[in-house]
Amino acid sequence: MIRLHNTKTRRKETFRPLDPQNVRMYLCGPTVYDRAHLGNARPVVVFDVLYRLLRHVYGADHVTYVRNFTDVDDKINATALARKEAGAPGTLEELIRARTEETIGWYHADMDALGALRPDHEPRATDYIGAMITMIADLITRGHAYAKDGHVLFRVRSYTEYGALSGRSVDDMIAGARVEVAPFKEDPMDFVLWKPSDDDLPGWDSPWGRGRPGWHIECSAMSYKLLGASFDIHAGGIDLQFPHHENEIAQSCCAHPEGGFANFWLHNEMLQVEGKKMSKSLGNFFTVRNLLDQGIPGEVIRFVFLQTHYGKPMDWTAEKAAQAQATLHRWRQLTEFVKPTTPSKKILQIISDDLNTAEAIAELSKIAERKDAGVLKASANILGLLEDEFGDWSWRRRPVKDFRNIPEWHPSQAWIAKLVTDSTANIQGAIRAINSVGIKAFSFPKYDFKLPDMRIMNESFLNAIRKMTQHLDYINSEYAEEMQFLGNATFDKLDEQTLKALRAFGLVDLMRQRAEAKVDKDYFKADAIRDVFENAGMRVVDTNNGPSIEFMDCFDFSSLPKSILNREEGDDE
Ligand SMILES: [Zn+2]
Repeated sequence: MIRLHNTKTRRKETFRPLDPQNVRMYLCGPTVYDRAHLGNARPVVVFDVLYRLLRHVYGADHVTYVRNFTDVDDKINATALARKEAGAPGTLEELIRARTEETIGWYHADMDALGALRPDHEPRATDYIGAMITMIADLITRGHAYAKDGHVLFRVRSYTEYGALSGRSVDDMIAGARVEVAPFKEDPMDFVLWKPSDDDLPGWDSPWGRGRPGWHIECSAMSYKLLGASFDIHAGGIDLQFPHHENEIAQSCCAHPEGGFANFWLHNEMLQVEGKKMSKSLGNFFTVRNLLDQGIPGEVIRFVFLQTHYGKPMDWTAEKAAQAQATLHRWRQLTEFVKPTTPSKKILQIISDDLNTAEAIAELSKIAERKDAGVLKASANILGLLEDEFGDWSWRRRPVKDFRNIPEWHPSQAWIAKLVTDSTANIQGAIRAINSVGIKAFSFPKYDFKLPDMRIMNESFLNAIRKMTQHLDYINSEYAEEMQFLGNATFDKLDEQTLKALRAFGLVDLMRQRAEAKVDKDYFKADAIRDVFENAGMRVVDTNNGPSIEFMDCFDFSSLPKSILNREEGDDE
């Protein structure tokens, strides 16, 4: 049973979805004009835990999570205009598009690093302008909105429930809020649904002239399109409660009186840094990327976030981050090579009680003390912690002693895959990564690897290194002639080190002799040569692409002469 604090009723209530086959939640997403700061990331992480919990309880295919991208906004326009004025090429429209695309890419990378699952839908406002125009026209028809001087405004006094979410009356809100008085407004509280765009600004044709939507209407239009007139949960930061969420409710309930909009409203409290409000003027303003670049793993940021209940202000401190890192490191060592079993019932109960992640982490510590590694991992996974794919930070921090028993699902596998990818884009990075696991890689005079003991490698690691050597343009013309005799299929598998070994044993020459024997139809000789390979732990296989060498389990690289394996740096031949 999940219980959630519903801002709408100001009570903790039992959560019962409208349709357990399709549990629906909406989170207000970012305005894409700049990097997400740390405070922007809090709702993403907090409600990612809710998403994971709902998926666990109702099934991953029975939850729909929508988070929008606001890609039409005056801040975006201003950023693009500043670039244009600084001499950037392209039209303003192109610069706006480039800025939003770039920012969405950053956002994805940063939130992925925090272990937040991507929502099922990430609608962009500019793709829903038609739906917004329809909704605005409908609100005018129903008497809840009016057009004046190219603007369309929502008539707040036409919706008697306005203010119910934040528990304030309209008159209190007028007194407290900085409402803009404008000649086109009937009432200062009325808010903009549509506004005119001059020629320099992005605009769309509408019944009220060329213009662009106000911010609030997009969430109403997109949630209606993707989740319907009634859905289960609407979430966001407490700073959005008024006016944004009040306005969303007013728009949606007036345009679709048949529905109830969101049943549950969840709001997370704000984030501070070292006890102070994060602000540029205090010099304590930073983005998620700043922290990641400082080497703080995304998983550590996530852990620190979850140590505070979402309904309380959270204080980011460097000390918390250091402690979280130490704890996670211990847990990762404890759960290494361990398959998750089932999450602890107690953990599920704790999280189901209004996402009490702080207590859940305390409970995880107890499980870790009992060294119950399988349960620890399964339980932490519900919080998005100790996920295999986010473990490479702890993996890289110490040399690997033994690669032999690494199971296929282990994070090192993802890391190995990444290593291969990195090597195409970032050779120095790949070399650093290799060095960090205790293998000496050097790049002078050619990319090469000093492999202290091949027996500690499992096949996937060997393959990774072999592939990487190709990426590094490693098998070069020096071996071109030999490759003819070893065949294209072999080419895919061999690295320079192996080739050197094969050559040292005269095996390359043997392959040449075998190829010649086959041409001469001397099958006795060809087979005899094949047996020589076989005795050395290699299988010669004839493929459509020519002969190929496969390494058998008994193949022992370390029995090869030390002079081949332990070449000194810069010892080129
Ligand atoms: Zn919204």
